[in-house]
Amino acid sequence: MAHPPRWRNWSGSVRATPQRIARPRDAGEVADLVRGLAGRTLRVAASGHSFSPIAASDDVMATLADMPTLVEPAPDGRTVTASAGTTIRQLNARLADHGLALRNAGDIDHQTIAGALATGTHGTGLAFGPMHADLVGVELVDARGEISWIDGTGTDEGAGGPALEAARLALGTLGVVTRVRLAVVPAYRLATHVSRVLLDDVLTDLDHHLRDHRHAEFYWLPHTRWTQLKLADATDEPALPTSAMQRINDVVLENAAIWAAGQVARTFPGASAAVSRLLARGIADVQSRLPSHAAFASTRWVRFQEMEYSLPADALVPVLEALDALITAERLPVALPVEVRAVAADRTAWLSPAWGPEGSHRMYVAIHAFRGMPYTRYFRRAEAIFRSHGGRPHWGKVHTLAADDLQGLYPRFADFAAERERSDPDGVFLSPYLARILSPTPSRCG
Ligand SMILES: Cc1cc2nc3c(=O)[nH]c(=O)nc-3n(C[C@H](O)[C@H](O)[C@H](O)COP(=O)(O)OP(=O)(O)OC[C@H]3O[C@@H](n4cnc5c(N)ncnc54)[C@H](O)[C@@H]3O)c2cc1C
Repeated sequence: MAHPPRWRNWSGSVRATPQRIARPRDAGEVADLVRGLAGRTLRVAASGHSFSPIAASDDVMATLADMPTLVEPAPDGRTVTASAGTTIRQLNARLADHGLALRNAGDIDHQTIAGALATGTHGTGLAFGPMHADLVGVELVDARGEISWIDGTGTDEGAGGPALEAARLALGTLGVVTRVRLAVVPAYRLATHVSRVLLDDVLTDLDHHLRDHRHAEFYWLPHTRWTQLKLADATDEPALPTSAMQRINDVVLENAAIWAAGQVARTFPGASAAVSRLLARGIADVQSRLPSHAAFASTRWVRFQEMEYSLPADALVPVLEALDALITAERLPVALPVEVRAVAADRTAWLSPAWGPEGSHRMYVAIHAFRGMPYTRYFRRAEAIFRSHGGRPHWGKVHTLAADDLQGLYPRFADFAAERERSDPDGVFLSPYLARILSPTPSRCG
């Protein structure tokens, strides 16, 4: 007897045993798949890089990995249309061939473009909202198996019109996305400076860093007062050649050091503070000039769990102070850094964790734990801190919130829930997890 397929996410924290994993080869086959579900539900899994169970299902799953990769820049070079399963790495490479680039990106490029957009994936920089803010059109196969193109033209109003505001960040619940169209820019290079800076100094200068640099972020090493600060700006200077030796140093040695740190922390959790101090001591001063996509993407060989919350900008300092106090008081075995990034507030997607007034920004704070290390207590306590400061969870990362909690955090949550209900009344694209985060208990609606 054939065994049912098994699926797991990148971090290994989410596992599923779907009835089957369908592999449609084009939008027509996706439509046939949806029409043939006969009462079953469907979730699309892409690169599986979400830490939350958002892609998983024990019913029917699908992958778009067998669809041909399509990357078609518009003749005016202002947008690109890409097949949904294209990875950000593939997209970057094809864009570079045409002298184009994404405006901004997160810190890895293994996600698919549809997967990244579906969860509100973001980079850092005051001028940039999450990646979905650059989405101008999307093709999806809806719950009836019909293929439609949503681009905000016609009678829609606002940031591309209501249909697009719902579809930009939809957690895969409005249909299977088969193509996306994104705004792009001429290719550019980034000059990046990485340095070791004291936490107090970074916080004192943060507003300047954010205003003066295209991209600014930092990693704080718990149990220490040290951070790794990363500042990046567009430059006309030629890219600096990277020698094989330097690549080995950057990728292999850095990953090896983190891997070794993980082995020690897993075996001796009590040594986590010492591990964090060692990692802090190893932060080197590094300057690079690279094509933007190479500057954004890091290579992560070591697996971990991650929780990330979007916070009002003025909550950053009290949140970091509270995290420091928590980790110290409870002697939590935390050996991986806390990552801090800035994202321009946007009103382009109803479920955007960066939702906020134009011209403002949100600070995103992410906490990490090596795979295999206990993290529940740390994440739960940290989540209470994030929540008490008006935080909204990243949809693709660990959180414990349900619809009753989430609806109070998103001014347009009810609009999204109504649009989802209208377009998929039978819950074809819902899993029990998604029903929990999107369906408030009736008495608390409104
Ligand atoms: C090492 C690492 C680094 C990361 N760095 C960042 C970062 O810098 N910034 C950030 O914001 N996030 C980051 N993330 C999170 C990551 O970007 C998101 O979780 C993203 O959703 C993962 O994309 P994926 O292709 O793996 O999608 P999956 O995790 O497989 O799926 C995510 C969601 O998209 C839906 N989906 C995927 N394809 C389709 C489709 N074609 N149609 C409809 N729905 C679809 C799925 O059903 C699911 O709901 C990181 C994650 C990891 C593991």
